[in-house]
This record gives sequence, C-alpha cells and structure tokens, in this order.
Amino acid sequence: MHQILRNLDKMITNRTFTMLKPDSVEKGNIGAILEKINAAGFKIVAMKLTQMTRRDAETFYAIHKERPFFGELVEYMTRGPIVAAVLEKENAVEDFRALIGATNPEEAAEGTIRKLYATSISENAVHGSDSDENASIESAFHFSGRDTF
Ligand code: UDP
Ligand code: MG
Repeated sequence: MHQILRNLDKMITNRTFTMLKPDSVEKGNIGAILEKINAAGFKIVAMKLTQMTRRDAETFYAIHKERPFFGELVEYMTRGPIVAAVLEKENAVEDFRALIGATNPEEAAEGTIRKLYATSISENAVHGSDSDENASIESAFHFSGRDTF
C-alpha cells in the first residue's frame, strides 16, 4: 500500500507515459528510440510489449472521438504491438514532449524522435502525455502499481 501511494505521488510531477507506436515496432526502431529516451535522462520505471484492442484504443483516445482522423487513428494504434512505458525525470511531461517534437514530423525540430522516426502526422512513431494528470491516467490505463517501480 505504501508502495502504491508513493508511486501515485511520483506521477504528479516526475513521470510521463509513452507508447512506441506500431510503426516504430514494425520498422525495428524500438532500440534506437529507447536509446534516445535514455540519453535524454529518462529512467524507465515500467515497460511492456503489448497490443491494444479496438476498445482500448477508443478509450485511450476518447478525447479525439469527434475528430475526422479518429477511425484511422484506432486502426493504426491496434494494427500491431506497441511498447508502453512509464518514464521518470524531473519535469518529465514537458521535457518528453520536447524530446519527441511536434505531432506533425514535418514541423518537428531537428533531432527529435518524430523528426527522426515518424512517417506522417498520423503515423508519428511515439506518444507522450500532455499533462501530469493525463500521465497518471494513461500510466494507470496500461500498468498496475505492482508493474511500476
Ligand atoms: N493524429 C492524426 N491526424 C491529425 C492529428 C493527430 O492522425 O491531424 C493522430 C496522431 O497519431 C497523434 C494522435 O492522433 O499522435 C493524437 O493527436 P494529438 O493531437 O493528441 O497529438 P500528440 O499529442 O500525439 O502530439
Ligand atoms: Mg495528445
């Protein structure tokens, strides 16, 4: 119980959630992307290879359900395995968004993960939480407290 409370507390400011999306896994980019994540000072505190069901993806991306790209997004995110992970670093959410770059790889800064590995605005290699609250929600969607160190 104390472990669970400690993990919840840490997620408030020091943790973020990521997925290496199906295109990254298909292209054999897991190792290269994890290398960049480690080199940027993030510590992996939970990680697994898993595949989202249609229902998982619809729930995870529920905020986008009225958007024109929603159907395509669900197809993409369920078509193969992903790597889900929880990352720890000071200022994790903001620093990780900077590391991955803009949603559209054409607009992403040089050296960012999306600039290097994304194909398009749809197939953009990685997910990164956009707030501390969403980092907690998204981490809890994929991992229990016992999977998280
Ligand atoms: N997406 C898309 N078309 C768009 C915008 C987004 O297919 O015009 C996909 C893309 O995979 C993106 C995800 O939907 O990563 C979630 O969109 P969001 O705007 O939250 O971008 P992110 O937070 O991932 O940068
Ligand atoms: Mg987003």
